[in-house]
Amino acid sequence: MADNKKAQEMDKFWHTTAHVFAAALTDLFPKVKIAIGPPIEQGFHYDFELDKNIDEKDLAKIEAKMKEILKQKDKMVQKDVSIKEALALFKDNPYKVEMIKDLEKEGENKISTYANGKFLDMCKGPHLESTAEIGAVKLLKISAAYWKGNEKNKQLQRVYVISFRTQKELDDWIETRKKAEENSHIKLSRDLDLFMISNSVGQGLPIWCPNLTMVRIQLQDFLVKEQIRRGYSFIITPHIGSKQLFTTSGHLEHYKEMMYAPLKIDEDEYYLKPMNCPFHIQYYLKEPRSYRDLPVKLSEMGTVYRYEKSGELSGLFRVRGFTQDDAHIFCTEDQLVEEFVKVFEFVIKVMNTMKLKNFRVRIGTKDPNSNKYIGADSVWEKATNAIKDAVKQKNIPFEVAQGEAAFYGPKADILVKDSLDREWQTGTIQVDYNLPERFQLDYIGSDGLKHRPIMIHRAALGSFERFTGIVIEHFGGAFPLWLAPEQVRIITISDNFADYGRQVFETLMDNEIRAKLDDRNETLGYKIREAQKQKVPYVLVVGAKEKETGNVAVRPRQGAQEVMPLQKFVEKALKEIKDKA
Ligand SMILES: [Zn+2]
Ligand SMILES: [Zn+2]
Repeated sequence: MADNKKAQEMDKFWHTTAHVFAAALTDLFPKVKIAIGPPIEQGFHYDFELDKNIDEKDLAKIEAKMKEILKQKDKMVQKDVSIKEALALFKDNPYKVEMIKDLEKEGENKISTYANGKFLDMCKGPHLESTAEIGAVKLLKISAAYWKGNEKNKQLQRVYVISFRTQKELDDWIETRKKAEENSHIKLSRDLDLFMISNSVGQGLPIWCPNLTMVRIQLQDFLVKEQIRRGYSFIITPHIGSKQLFTTSGHLEHYKEMMYAPLKIDEDEYYLKPMNCPFHIQYYLKEPRSYRDLPVKLSEMGTVYRYEKSGELSGLFRVRGFTQDDAHIFCTEDQLVEEFVKVFEFVIKVMNTMKLKNFRVRIGTKDPNSNKYIGADSVWEKATNAIKDAVKQKNIPFEVAQGEAAFYGPKADILVKDSLDREWQTGTIQVDYNLPERFQLDYIGSDGLKHRPIMIHRAALGSFERFTGIVIEHFGGAFPLWLAPEQVRIITISDNFADYGRQVFETLMDNEIRAKLDDRNETLGYKIREAQKQKVPYVLVVGAKEKETGNVAVRPRQGAQEVMPLQKFVEKALKEIKDKA
């Protein structure tokens, strides 16, 4: 709840600053026709019509004018006026006139206005009481936007602005943003050759380059081992399934807009799968189940395809085909709490290992005033309490988001904070009463009668694409040793030591340490700089002294160089890999 409240506070803060921006703009350019200035995730943007194209110099002037106006510490004064009065007040501004008429059509008979100093605008609020709280402001960039976001309408100029209570807060924000830009997975991918989007393949369909593929293989290997010890079985299912499958599952009824057009094979229609669940269910149905078999836990690195608008595609974060670390747990009602606890234990293990220790859970519950949900209230309450009990048992901070549940059951979203304090949603855990019903799943209980199991859908990472994108940014591309595509680079001081270099290389490879030998005829400095740029965790330099003694000069990515016997380095590296340090 706290974060939500904070977001609302910042919305109010930024929106109040927007009034100051509009006041400054109007003061400097009396002919401007201001449109709207809504708060966004970071600050606000303001759209307006002006016969002159705003440039960087103008931004500086507007910023200076805003600071001047802020010194007046104006109160935000609200006043309602009639539609007629409003139309007269804003008659020179076609955007305001349109908005007033829209409000009139919606049945409003009065218009709320706010004044800060001598500047007046129509607005329903809410605002800060006074502009005195705004201590620092910065104009960020100029762009363009269509009125009401419709490209048939007039194109307006748009300016992005951020503001804070103090200069210190603003400075910190700028610093974090700079770091975030440097850490952007799209930028780092160019330097480190991580993934590519080929126009010949298509937008939103990334190709994993060898370096990132190795990271993914390590991540998968870790997840497989952690799940085996937790009683999961792994299955592999096809990428397409028949129309009948998705009709039974309800995806064609409820999820069609996210699915791609069907493929015709012989006389039948097939769909790319948007989810793995219906396939896992087929395996559950393969044989009769007894209560002694439950919980059945099926896991798959399952690739799914979902429609995303082309404008929303972004690097690895928003794609059209992705692989989930997807599992389905078929259990009895009595097993729900225990299974949730186990899922959260797994999530904690994964996040701790990835050094994403700061995470919380958002529990999506049903909206008591809606009737879109299936299943009895008592069952919902039981499932919601099961989730709450489990997070409390595991001491995970959580918030409840009423009305955020899926129509088929409550859920728990996992929100993680990265090294730059940005929060991301990664995995989801959902209770489902719907699919067991649709597919008529059952098991024979200890009473000898048929009962319906409950399904838990669970993806701890969410998708490999998105999660790996987050991890790239979290580590700034400097992966810990166990994940690093190339763990060790061996650099020879000159040609004379190529033999010894090869010997070191073979020893590392024999120990399953991913190494590369750089015995090119380049300077030592050049070769070291290249390895550093590629963020290789360890560089081993070998020359005359090392060859003679059987040592290596170890240069970690951070810290000082240290000479040690090759065998000692191997042991040290293997321990670091095993500990996932
Ligand atoms: Zn306002
Ligand atoms: Zn599922």
